[in-house]
Amino acid sequence: MSDCLFCKIAAGEIPANKVYEDDDFLAFHDIRPKAEVHFLIIPKAHVASLADCGPEHEAMLGRLLALAPRLAREQGIGAGFQTRIHTGVAGGQEVFHLHLHVLGNRP
Ligand code: C5P
Repeated sequence: MSDCLFCKIAAGEIPANKVYEDDDFLAFHDIRPKAEVHFLIIPKAHVASLADCGPEHEAMLGRLLALAPRLAREQGIGAGFQTRIHTGVAGGQEVFHLHLHVLGNRP
């Protein structure tokens, strides 16, 4: 998706403050943090929203979710954190590339 902001971040065309990267996922700090620690985990492959996911996305969604506690621990919020996925305009979604918010405050 040439006009997708998070695809451009995943491709390294737009800078982001990275938390984690592998072949399939990228995590980076949210530019407008809503907590002391607030980062987003995205699949590098473009999927517009959770509403666009089907059975073929189950493995990706499982890996996406499983990254949250691991990265939360690494960022010092492993003791407790929130996860959010905004889905659709009515669900508050602003960037139409699937992303998992992970938020928390360090003890
Ligand atoms: O509501 P939604 O989950 O789509 O919000 C997108 C999030 O992406 C916002 O929290 C916003 O601060 C973040 N963002 C970002 N870097 C950008 C653009 C948006 O972290 N370049």
